[in-house]
Amino acid sequence: MDGIKCKICNNESGNDLIILRERQLGMGDMFEYIVCSSCKCIQIKEVPPDMGKYYPSEYYAFDESTFPSKLNWFNFFLKKSLIRYYMGYFDPAGYLLSFIFDHPFPWIRKREISFNSKILDVGTGAGRKLLSLKRSGFRNLTGIDPYIEGDIIFENGVRIFKKDISEVDEKYDFITLHHSFEHMPDPASVVKHLSRLLNTDGVIVIRIPVADCHAWYKYGEFWVGLDAPRHFFIHTRKSIEILLNNTDLFIDDVVFDSGPLQFLRSEKYKRGMIQSAPDNIFTKEEIESYTREAEMLNRTGKGDMACFFIKK
Ligand SMILES: [Zn+2]
Repeated sequence: MDGIKCKICNNESGNDLIILRERQLGMGDMFEYIVCSSCKCIQIKEVPPDMGKYYPSEYYAFDESTFPSKLNWFNFFLKKSLIRYYMGYFDPAGYLLSFIFDHPFPWIRKREISFNSKILDVGTGAGRKLLSLKRSGFRNLTGIDPYIEGDIIFENGVRIFKKDISEVDEKYDFITLHHSFEHMPDPASVVKHLSRLLNTDGVIVIRIPVADCHAWYKYGEFWVGLDAPRHFFIHTRKSIEILLNNTDLFIDDVVFDSGPLQFLRSEKYKRGMIQSAPDNIFTKEEIESYTREAEMLNRTGKGDMACFFIKK
């Protein structure tokens, strides 16, 4: 359909207008989305004025039970060794542990940051991830989220501020966006602020669902990654490149990190179920086969989630 402009690349020719339903909670409300024929980004046509009702209260709830305040020292040293090894430090215990355990934070690459790096997590919610990093030995951790009730200052030093990215003015070595970027209505402005906040040698990690993937072509409107209307933009490598073209940032690498949920949840939607429907509708063999298929898709760049490593 002509005359519908892509908000990322401005292409107006050959774009599709599709109707997507809210499926995660089973509300069924319908929303118009644009599928760009050029950069392939899928994007909501108009941001609904009443987004609050699409975020259930538990979305930002602070669940004390998941944040143990007492440190298990044995766990702490093992995990710290493992992470030290994966971060590229000499650590024989970590090396041995790496035969058993995967990287707890695979989006932290070798020799890129240290335990003293200044880390900012954007769209952090109640700070689950930052507290996990704190327990693993990282020392300088800040989070921001404009939708939390108020600032949260933990005794262990982790600080979370009720702020939009435009209100931050310190610089950071490592900035992470774990499945928050797709919820932001003005991605072009966000990347400009990311560039402003990043130290020269720093790294930005953006983890998002990506549109040009197998699950989108297989499931169409039932693909879980669409998550209308909460996901405003489902990007592609190309649309992220276009956004970064107006900044001093570039994509250093893209690593696909999708899992079996792209199948399990999309299958549920296809069968008219909501996201929290029990997984026991699938056999163990089906789940294992979806897990293997996700690994294969990640290797071939067709998984439905990716981690973008961005530098200056
Ligand atoms: Zn486009």
